[in-house]
Amino acid sequence: MKSYISIWPPLAPNAPFPRRLAVLGSTGSIGVSALRVVAEHRELFNVTALAGGRNARRLAGQATLLRPATLAVLDDAAARELKTLLPAGYAPEILVGPTAYTDIAASAENDLLLSAIVGAAGFLPTLAAAQKGKRIALANKESLVIGGRLIRRACRESGAVILPVDSEHNALFQALCGHADTSEGAARELARLILTASGGPFRGRDAAFLAAVTPEQALSHPTWSMGAKISIDSASLMNKGLEIIEACHLYGLPVSRVRVLVHPQSIVHSLAEYVDGSQLAHLGVPDMRIPIAHCLCFPRRVTLDMPKLDLAQVGSLTFEEPDEERFPCLRLAKEAFAASPSHPAALNAANEAAVALFLQHRIKFMDIPRLIEMALARHKALPEDAGADDLLAVDAETRRELITDIDCSGAGLS
Ligand code: NAD
Ligand code: MG
Repeated sequence: MKSYISIWPPLAPNAPFPRRLAVLGSTGSIGVSALRVVAEHRELFNVTALAGGRNARRLAGQATLLRPATLAVLDDAAARELKTLLPAGYAPEILVGPTAYTDIAASAENDLLLSAIVGAAGFLPTLAAAQKGKRIALANKESLVIGGRLIRRACRESGAVILPVDSEHNALFQALCGHADTSEGAARELARLILTASGGPFRGRDAAFLAAVTPEQALSHPTWSMGAKISIDSASLMNKGLEIIEACHLYGLPVSRVRVLVHPQSIVHSLAEYVDGSQLAHLGVPDMRIPIAHCLCFPRRVTLDMPKLDLAQVGSLTFEEPDEERFPCLRLAKEAFAASPSHPAALNAANEAAVALFLQHRIKFMDIPRLIEMALARHKALPEDAGADDLLAVDAETRRELITDIDCSGAGLS
């Protein structure tokens, strides 16, 4: 597989400051961290648009501080509430509904987009920004999982640049910068990518324990503070599965050259291994402001108000193999990526639907991989030239069938 995403420094020109920034998902965990970076470096950004979901109160607070010309929310109720919360004399345009996010992503009013919506809803906006030649700070890994080929092609055709916010992929970006001049050079000189994983809250637990875990237990991640969906994905190791696919798309390597290493301290964020045996790692405290600032300001580095990494205090760093038998999501993601260009879209949809059901206490934790496996077995591969509409149809159909599976099996599967 050839890498089409021009993340390399010579291809990611030093865009001028202040950068015109739009944030999709500003009210989420990544969005809030990003606006903390912006607040520390106000002179570097003009925030042109902020898009939240239904949390009008949080969005109003952010908008009151930053005064973007455009805001977006998911429904009319949120839009009405938002209007009542904005200060007198500030009357931004308020866009409503799913198309609002794509409109903002494609708008000529911004040149830097932080794509930080959670889930499949991030796919079309990310694709739109790629088609418009934008600089995209990408947190929404699901968009590459669903349509990585389409996004890569759009980047190649438009000159769009993707800067990976996901901490592992950002670590790899940093470990590759300056060590390989072009994407072709990197492909030749790179031997493997090593993605680290914390192992989540259930590392080392046995099957009986996993069968009985609750959403509350799964939501308490040992090292990172994140949104609900990615926290459950971290507990099931599906997050690492999605990240393998994300890495293959970003760096143009086959799955066989991406390794996962469990590293419970979450200090080494990933490693790039070169053909001479050198492994370059990126280390830091587990705080998403570091990769976010790196992407928003690249290639400039900025100060961040946080405790710095003190390795003497950390003491020891440990590494171990992931347990793919107890955590089948890792295997399922690799199989989906190998199966066809559309299997990852089915994997992602089944996972999102299953995670939502688990959070509602309607299925057990280990039903998540079971339902995904059923969905993958049922999915009929689409041809290589499948478009965005085809992939979204797979997404919708997979979710529908999964709900039917649940309804047919009564209260739950296991
Ligand atoms: P979150 O749940 O905290 O926030 C999600 C944001 O998306 C919110 O602003 C919400 O209002 C908005 N949103 C939700 N559904 C939407 C929809 N249908 N349409 C439009 N907007 C919608 O999630 P998060 O933890 O910030 O994660 C965001 C993305 O970043 C995910 O793709 C996740 O995998 C990725 N990511 C997160 C972290 C992290 O530390 N949180 C790390 C790496 C990658
Ligand atoms: Mg990650």
